[in-house]
Amino acid sequence: MNIALILAGGKGSRMGNTDQPKQFIDIYGKPLIIHTLECFDRHREIDYIIVACLKEWQEDLKIWIRKYDINKVKWIVDGGEARQESVYNGLKLIEKEIESEDIIVIHDSARPLVSHRIISENIDVAKRYGAADTVIPATDTIIKSEDTKVIHSVPKRNELYLGQTPQSFRFSIIKEAHEYSKQKDIKEATDDCQLVLKTGHPVHMVNGDSLNFKITKAEDLLLLKSVIKIGKLEMV
Ligand code: C5P
Repeated sequence: MNIALILAGGKGSRMGNTDQPKQFIDIYGKPLIIHTLECFDRHREIDYIIVACLKEWQEDLKIWIRKYDINKVKWIVDGGEARQESVYNGLKLIEKEIESEDIIVIHDSARPLVSHRIISENIDVAKRYGAADTVIPATDTIIKSEDTKVIHSVPKRNELYLGQTPQSFRFSIIKEAHEYSKQKDIKEATDDCQLVLKTGHPVHMVNGDSLNFKITKAEDLLLLKSVIKIGKLEMV
């Protein structure tokens, strides 16, 4: 079984002046999270979806799931204080209902342009190797600074990638990684692959796409709307 875990527990504080977390902002008549859920709902290899959602938005989410005809959402769980806790809450909720060999495809609700290919390759690589990360090669030179004032180092660009989501795992591997991190009191990991690496399990890469960007700041919304509009114009 392949299960998508969609993360919608964040408050989107970098978005600036908006009373809604970014994942619920309306984009051409549909909340952003519905655009994302549609990508997984329509994918043949995804069996079920679990959403980790801010508690105060769960009723709205249920209404939208019905209104926009999303069929595969089987569970909704409370988001946590940090992203890592939202994932953990999701894993805990479903652990009794799934097998250790099942694949969990973890995706940010704030990445609504994830492609069919990226989801398929995640499932394929996670089945084969146990752990998959979606990445794109760094095109800008990445600068490391430890004090926000001076450059500490400039790592070799051809060894650097930008991590996206989905990140996909055999259930037993991601569960072990989260349990291990809990024991070691690691709490604020920005992604799941770094937790899996700590348990010594290799993570294989899937080619991402620059269009699979994360809505983080107000200007990302402009870009998203342009992509959707141009995409629709090109199809007519
Ligand atoms: O904050 P960031 O943009 O890295 O969040 C990535 C994803 O993780 C978003 O979809 C956000 O809703 C989710 N998240 C979460 N629970 C949190 C914080 C973030 O599910 N406490």
